[in-house]
Parts: sequence; C-alpha cells; structure tokens
Amino acid sequence: MDPTVFKRECRACPRLADFLDDVNRRYPDYYCRPVPPFGTVDARFLIVGLAPGMHGANRTGRPFTGDHAGILLYQMLHKYGFSSRDHSEATDDGLELIDCRITNAVKCLPPDNKPVGAEINTCNAYLENELKLLPRNAVVMALGGIAHRAIVKARGLRQAEYKFGHAALHDLNEFRLLDSYHCSRYNTNTGRLTEAMFDGIFAKVRVLLDK
Ligand code: URA
Repeated sequence: MDPTVFKRECRACPRLADFLDDVNRRYPDYYCRPVPPFGTVDARFLIVGLAPGMHGANRTGRPFTGDHAGILLYQMLHKYGFSSRDHSEATDDGLELIDCRITNAVKCLPPDNKPVGAEINTCNAYLENELKLLPRNAVVMALGGIAHRAIVKARGLRQAEYKFGHAALHDLNEFRLLDSYHCSRYNTNTGRLTEAMFDGIFAKVRVLLDK
C-alpha cells in the first residue's frame, strides 16, 4: 500500500495513536481516528487547517465540523459558492463542497491542540500527496502558520523564502498559496481574525479562481 495515501488505520505517530485510544475510551461514540480530507480530489480550492479539534472533527470525522472553528469557515464557504449549505454538522448531513476540499496538516487530534514537530513531519507525507493531486491553477489556503509551514515543507521549498502572513499570497509554482490567520475560537474571540478579514480572504480566493 502507498504510504503517502491517507489511511484511517494510520498509527505512525505513537503519541497521537495512544492519545486517540485514550480519548476513545472516554468518548466511545466519537470518531477518534485520523480525519480524512473532505471534498473531491479535483477541487481547485484546498483549505489546510491545523489538526482535528477534540469535540469537533475528532468527534464527527469531518474537518472543522461540530465545533466553533468551523462556524465562520462554512459560512464563508457558502457565501462564496464553495458549499451547498452554510454549516456542517456531521458526515451524513448531506453537505457538499463545490470545487473545494478541506484537510488538516495533522490528521489526528493532538493533546492540547499541539502536534509536535515530529508528528507534523510524519503526517506531511499525506499532505504532500494531497498537494500533488491538485488540478492546475489551484489555490491553497493555509489556516495559520503551522499549516503554512507544512505546505511549504510538503513542496520541498525553503521556509525562509515563504514567510507566513495574514493575506499573504505566495506563488508555489504548481499552485498559489494564500495565508489566513486560523479561524479558531481564540482568534475570532480576540479579534485577531474578524469576520471582515476572513471575508476578504475568501473574496480573494474567488477572484483568483475566477480570472
Ligand atoms: N478542526 C479542524 O479540522 N482543523 C482545525 O485546524 C481546527 C479545527
């Protein structure tokens, strides 16, 4: 089996696999597995988050679904024509993404929402594969600095030449990379990322894909 193709059974990071087993004992009805990307591989717009949230993606099995981090994200996706509805509840809710795919830099729930460097690196093979599958003229959105650096690493590029910055647009040859602050509860509550700022990022994506 190709080791770069995402596997629901992956246990490549012992700390994360053990943590998921532990969380699963506490929450037997939670998904508690590596969370697969959502959306079809031919989508021209790929969103890369950090990692599943405990009571969101880790519970439901779909990125940014079931917790606060997904609220603004799915509203924006719907507003700009990338999803059939403005909220995501569960894998069987019938929601469809349109020309859009959502993944995470790290597929497993990390303790304290913080994957360690080795885990980001190990999981990078999956991200590398997902980026290789992108169609021509794609736009990739990095939600936060960790996702940004994981994308640059997955392309084998030098971090020093591609610095993360909110609304920064980078040409990565095979695709364009647009950075945004992460839409976490912390960032939206503190005003680091406002609705207007996130809206501006999505408007930019729409223009990039439509021209
Ligand atoms: N849920 C995800 O799937 N990814 C994040 O980065 C945050 C919440």
